[in-house]
Amino acid sequence: MDKIRMTTPLVEMDGDEMTRVIWQMIKDELLLPFIDLKTEYYDLGLENRDKTDDKVTVDSADAIRKYGVGVKCATITPNAARVEEYGLKQMWKSPNGTIRAKLDGTVFRAPILVKGIDPHISHWTSPITIARHAYGDVYKASEMKIDRPGKAEIVFTDSDGNETRKLIHEFDGPGVVQGMHNLDSSIESFARSCFNYALDTRQDLWFASKDTISKTYDHRFKDIFAEIYEKDYRDRFEKAGLTYLYTLIDDVVARVIRSNGGFIWACKNYDGDVMSDMLATAFGSLGMMTSVLVSPDGKYEYEAAHGTVQRHYYKYLKGEETSTNSVATIFAWTGALRKRGELDGISELVSFADRLEKAVIDTIESGIMTGDLASVSTLPGARKVETLEFIKAIRERLQ
Ligand code: NAP
Ligand code: MG
Repeated sequence: MDKIRMTTPLVEMDGDEMTRVIWQMIKDELLLPFIDLKTEYYDLGLENRDKTDDKVTVDSADAIRKYGVGVKCATITPNAARVEEYGLKQMWKSPNGTIRAKLDGTVFRAPILVKGIDPHISHWTSPITIARHAYGDVYKASEMKIDRPGKAEIVFTDSDGNETRKLIHEFDGPGVVQGMHNLDSSIESFARSCFNYALDTRQDLWFASKDTISKTYDHRFKDIFAEIYEKDYRDRFEKAGLTYLYTLIDDVVARVIRSNGGFIWACKNYDGDVMSDMLATAFGSLGMMTSVLVSPDGKYEYEAAHGTVQRHYYKYLKGEETSTNSVATIFAWTGALRKRGELDGISELVSFADRLEKAVIDTIESGIMTGDLASVSTLPGARKVETLEFIKAIRERLQ
């Protein structure tokens, strides 16, 4: 059998722990036998990030800027325990944060639906994609504890030294204050990424905030989305038969619960943080959540939404059996290969991605699955298999 040829390399970012083990299995069993795989490889494993003073992460982000499409394995975000475990020079920043900042992108997360893993909301028959704005608000806020009576104000000092003040509250007892910000440029990037991704995936876009209460801050989000939509996207949405809906955050929550899915839900930073966990849980399993970072100028980075599955890795190191779900990582590869195929006009690559995804879903629906799925599956005769056995079962189907 001839292998499928590629013309432009994918930016491949390797990672850590159990997902690094799975990464190699996926390449060996599901990709290399079928594709003349062309990648530019960056080892984002924690040891190499430390060795290169994290330059490898920055280089990989630059490579995505250059080639347009990347695929990333889950990576450790170091904390104090990891600094000790790996003897790190310093507590390196989250690679995802670094890449996101370089690409100025928005993260879209969507569950993979299979028969037998039923969403808790039974009429969610299509996936709901969440788009989280990943800049500012309460994540970059200044906070203060007030321990005595007094006046709290917001003060803005322009570059000429002129002050504008606004009262927050006259305190007559103890309390707390918080000051946060966002940037028009970041909100614009967020809006463009959302509109582009909606057109790309042919889904309606819903966006919500609390502009009735936050008449300046949240209203700015609403206005920027509306201006960009009218100026650059309304025509294209109408031609594609798609809708852009703006409403209030509480109204959108009610609509989401009543819906059948099949749309993109754009969320401000905090809403996205909270609601993405709600959606992942309601749809079934973290091992089935895909994630893609999309920049406003159309660069894509695909990955699984879950982490490095550390607990399974320690079992693996001890030679114990593991049953780690590789589905979201496989779909990161298929997402990237499909996009590469579309951009380069290689239809074999696109159809390979479709067939591999179908083989994954058929395998699970035939009753062969990893432990996380077997424990919640409603299929009669669902059987838990170990990590590599699951991937080999997919390969058999694919062949
Ligand atoms: P995690 O790796 O997502 O795992 C949390 C738990 O969820 C696992 O212990 C496992 O439960 C279950 N799980 C997650 N993915 C699974 C899969 N594919 N198959 C089966 N079960 C799965 O999160 P974490 O333990 O909080 O974080 C571990 C490391 O990952 C951390 O160092 C963190 O920095 C990093 N992380 C990276 C990313 C990223 O690169 N995008 C994202 C999140 C976290 P059971 O143990 O009960 O089986
Ligand atoms: Mg969260």
